[in-house]
Amino acid sequence: MKTDVLVIGDGLAGSAAALEAARLGARVALVSAGPASSERAQGGIAAAVLPEDSPRLHALDTLAAGAGLCDPDAVAMLTSAGPETVRWLQSLGVRFDGGAAREAAHSLPRVLHLGGDQSGHTLMAFVHAAIEREPNISRYTARLHALLGDGVCVGAVFSGGLTVLAGATILATGGYAGLYERTTNSRLSNGKGILEAARAGARVADLEFVQFHPTVFAGGHPFLITEALRGAGAFVVDAAGERFIDELLPRDQVALALARHRGPAYISATHMDPELLRTSFPNFLRNCRHAGIDPLRELVPIMPAAHYTMGGVATDLDGRSSVEGLFAAGECARTGVHGANRLASNSLLEAAAFGRRAAAAAASAAPVDGSPSSHTHVWRRQDMSLVDVRRILDSAAGVLRTGAGLERALRLLRSGASSAAAADAAELASMICAAALARPVSLGAHQRLDRPAPIAV
Ligand SMILES: Cc1cc2nc3c(=O)[nH]c(=O)nc-3n(C[C@H](O)[C@H](O)[C@H](O)COP(=O)(O)OP(=O)(O)OC[C@H]3O[C@@H](n4cnc5c(N)ncnc54)[C@H](O)[C@@H]3O)c2cc1C
Repeated sequence: MKTDVLVIGDGLAGSAAALEAARLGARVALVSAGPASSERAQGGIAAAVLPEDSPRLHALDTLAAGAGLCDPDAVAMLTSAGPETVRWLQSLGVRFDGGAAREAAHSLPRVLHLGGDQSGHTLMAFVHAAIEREPNISRYTARLHALLGDGVCVGAVFSGGLTVLAGATILATGGYAGLYERTTNSRLSNGKGILEAARAGARVADLEFVQFHPTVFAGGHPFLITEALRGAGAFVVDAAGERFIDELLPRDQVALALARHRGPAYISATHMDPELLRTSFPNFLRNCRHAGIDPLRELVPIMPAAHYTMGGVATDLDGRSSVEGLFAAGECARTGVHGANRLASNSLLEAAAFGRRAAAAAASAAPVDGSPSSHTHVWRRQDMSLVDVRRILDSAAGVLRTGAGLERALRLLRSGASSAAAADAAELASMICAAALARPVSLGAHQRLDRPAPIAV
């Protein structure tokens, strides 16, 4: 099949890209494997929409969170696109709850919610409805196998024998936090798109920067326990019920304190007003009860888990990768807006704003020409499974890393795998560990136990 623009992934970045390319008159093939992070977002989307706020103030907060590693031009682009992106979403039919919340390290209220704590699910229902109305977009459900082209990108091959040849290809396959054993992400968020881009010769960057959410249920089915619960008075306690950290510290510092703590840790909400919990935190109550815990009477076990990944395919401000014909947007891209640490709620904004920018560049670029060849990847058969890879990554490249741990992980990850999926996971996991080893300092979300440094938030 031939098309003008191929978009891989239909989260917010891919959907925004597909809608914009179609609006500009391109025929678009939109291929995805199913819902991933956009549908899971809870908090909302950051944009300087209130009169007392401005893109400049939003940029200052973003730069501070990024610990000196943000690209200031990319940050200025992101934050100045905020209000217009909100208007664009509204033009698609998106209805925000009204008002803006002050969250995480934002110095002013600027996080817009939809459907309470169901922001992503609500947002994506509106966006996907807009895609259904667009005749220039053809949708397919399939998994990416490989990108096509020799030194350029001319399309991709997918599961089920689907081959799409395209004048331009936009990768919007999300991040790689789902590669970790403990994660708030879908297992679809395994970085496959980033891996295939790297195999096609694209430059990738900042893979060592992985953000961990501190309060994730430490049971069989991990679920995220919102920071707003701590803001409303919940405690973090040890097995004896004693508090051991300031619950209102920023996300990274709570995650670090939990990683350093010896023994189990819990969220305690037993002292809180049951009515407040019922009205403001229905998801928390529902998830706990699903796991067989009554949080009105019992402690809820927690552990940090991989949540958001800052690294990805290196792009310019229009989503161009270093391979002609290949663009990237959203969490799979490394645009430079997050630096060493993402400011909460900036990622939905990045997905929509940079998804549209990549589409405009892709739709106006001369169609790339080249042979649709693909590379064959050989891997050594050994008994390391996907589960083994996830565990190795958690222990070596988790909240706290050491040079010796990363070197040991690299030896294991490079020794072979038991399946093609495990081999893919091991290859990307070894790229993450190698990047973490190559940065012998503690910076933002990358904390080396053997190179301690003050934490920037
Ligand atoms: C629990 C949770 C809460 C969050 N809360 C917020 C929040 O409040 N505010 C905020 O700004 N950010 C939040 N984030 C982060 C934010 O949701 C993501 O960064 C953002 O949605 C990424 O959008 P995306 O379009 O780049 O990727 P995704 O939404 O992850 O979409 C990826 C797409 O790629 C497809 N795909 C993946 N692999 C393949 C493959 N091999 N073949 C074919 N298709 C593939 C998937 O099917 C999917 O369609 C949260 C994340 C999580 C996990």
